[in-house]
Amino acid sequence: MSLIFDEYGRPYIILQEQERKTRIKGLDAIRSNITAARTLARTLTTSLGPKGMDKMLQSQDGDVTVTNDGATILKEMDVENQVAKLMVELAQSQDDEIGDGTTGVVVLAGALLEQALILLDRGIHPTKISEGFDKACEVCLDKLEQISQKIEFNENSYDDLVKAAMTTMSSKVVNRYSQQLAEICIKAIFSVADFERKDINLDLIKVEGKVGGTLEDSVLVNGIVLDKDVSHPQMPKAVDNAKICILTCPFEPPKPKTKHKLDIDSVEKYRDLQKAEQEYFRDMVQRVKDSGANVVLCQWGFDDEANHLLYQNGLLAVRWVGGVEIELVAMATHGRIIPRFSEISEKKLGRAGKVREVSLGTTHDHVIFIEDCANSKAVTIFLRGGSKMAVDEAKRSVHDALCQVRNLIRDQRIVYGGGSSEIACSLAVSEFADKVSGVEQYAIRCFADALDAIPSALADNSGLSSLETLGALKAAQTKQNNSRLGVDCLGLGTLDMKEQNVYETLLSKKQQIQLATQLVKMILKIDDVIGPTDALT
Ligand code: ADP
Repeated sequence: MSLIFDEYGRPYIILQEQERKTRIKGLDAIRSNITAARTLARTLTTSLGPKGMDKMLQSQDGDVTVTNDGATILKEMDVENQVAKLMVELAQSQDDEIGDGTTGVVVLAGALLEQALILLDRGIHPTKISEGFDKACEVCLDKLEQISQKIEFNENSYDDLVKAAMTTMSSKVVNRYSQQLAEICIKAIFSVADFERKDINLDLIKVEGKVGGTLEDSVLVNGIVLDKDVSHPQMPKAVDNAKICILTCPFEPPKPKTKHKLDIDSVEKYRDLQKAEQEYFRDMVQRVKDSGANVVLCQWGFDDEANHLLYQNGLLAVRWVGGVEIELVAMATHGRIIPRFSEISEKKLGRAGKVREVSLGTTHDHVIFIEDCANSKAVTIFLRGGSKMAVDEAKRSVHDALCQVRNLIRDQRIVYGGGSSEIACSLAVSEFADKVSGVEQYAIRCFADALDAIPSALADNSGLSSLETLGALKAAQTKQNNSRLGVDCLGLGTLDMKEQNVYETLLSKKQQIQLATQLVKMILKIDDVIGPTDALT
C-alpha cells in the first residue's frame, strides 16, 4: 500500500492486487489449518464403533442420506475450507485403497492434529514434530506386524472371514442381519476370486437394491439382476438354456436422419405405409427368431406391434435395459452387443442357464434374474430394505464388507479391533519415546496420546467413561501381556476381542496410521495461506 499525491496535492492510496488478498503466515497459518481440520474430525468421532451415531445429511435438492460411513458423511458434507477438504480426500483414499476404516482414519488424523497443536504451543518447530511423528509411525507399523495373526480359511470353512466381515458391518444400520449379509458377501467373493493370483475383480460383483421387503430377504444371485419386467404380460416368465439376443437398436422402422416429408393423401397410401411398417417388424423379429434366440434384451423400446410379434413368437423380451447392464450381460453371458438387425447371428448370442422374471412379495414389482451365465463369474448381491435410505446404507455396508474380505484374501493377517491394537501401539510408542533423546521425544509421546483417541471414542460412544476404560485397558494389556484387550462396547463382559470376534485387517490398520500421519505432516508443512479476497475470513 502506498500513499501518493496527485498534481493538485491531494493524497490517494494505491492498493496492490496482492495486498487485497487474504493471507495468513507462519504459525498462525498452521494453527488455523489445524483448527479447520480438527473441527471436521470431531464431527466424525461420535460415529465411530458399533455404538456410534449415524448422521443424517440433506443435499441441496432435498435428498436425505442416513449413514455411519465416514467417507460418505464427508462426501455429502458441503466442505468449503481447503484444509478440511484434505480430510475429505483422506477418507476417500482410505475408501479407495482399503474400502473400510474411513471413520477411524479421520478420527486418528484429528487426534494427531490436536496433539500437534499442543506441541506447537510448547514452541516445538513443525519439522521436529513431523520427524517425531514419522518415527512413531514406523514403531506402530512394526508393532502391528508383531501382534498380527494369520487366519485360515478355505471355500468350505470360513468362520473367521465371517467374523471379520461382521465387524465391519457391526456399526452400520444393517447389524441385525450382519451374519447373513457377511455370508452372502463371502460367497460372492469366492465365486469371482482367483485364489492363485490372489486377485479379485470387484466389478464382477454387482450390488443391486430394491425397496420393499426386509434385509433378511436379500439374496445372492448367481448371475445378473435387471430391475425390469417382461415387456408383455403373456410372454414366458422363465426360459431354460437361454440364448440371449442383446440389441442396441430399437424395434422401430428406420427413420432417415435428414429432414423428410411424407404426403399421405389416400387410403391406399396409408395402407401401404402400414404394411411396409409391419413388414419391417416382421423381418426384425424373424431375424431374431432365425438366429435361435429365445430371449431378447433391448436397450430401447418396442413398438406395440413389435411387442405383439415377439410375444407371438414365444420370445421373452425385456425393453429399456440400461447401457451399463447391457454391457454387463454381454460380458457375463459371452454374448456380443448387436447394433443392427442385419448383424444378428447365432454366434453372437449370449448364453445363460436360466432367465426368469421374479415377482417381489405382495407388490407388483418384478425383476429379471439371468442365472448361470456362460462366463459364470459375474454375481449380484440383491438387497432388499424397507426404504430407499435403508437400501442405500445396506449397499454401502456391503461394499465395506466386500472390501474387507477381498483384503483378507490378499493378505490373511488380522489384528484385533475395539481399540486393542491402537492401545498396543500406543504402549509401544511410549516405550520407544523413552529411548529417544532430543525434542522429537515429545512429539513421539504425543503420537502415543493421539492413538488413544480411538479407544477413547469407542468408550465414549458406548456410554463408558473414556479415561477410566483407557487406564484400565492399558494396565491390563501391560500386566497380562495381551494385546487383544479392547473396549467392550457391547457390554458382553469380556475385554478379549478374540472372544468378542472383533477382527480388522492388518492392511486396513496399517493404511489408517500411514495415511493419517502423512496428512498431518502435510498440514504442518503449510506455513503460508494465500486466498482470494475475504475467502479466509
Ligand atoms: P470405520 O468406518 O472406520 O470402519 P466404524 O464405525 O465401522 O468405522 O467403527 C470401526 C471401529 O469399531 C473399529 O475400531 C472396530 O475395531 C470397532 N468395533 C467394531 N465392532 C466392535 C465391537 N463389537 N466391539 C468393540 N469394538 C468394535
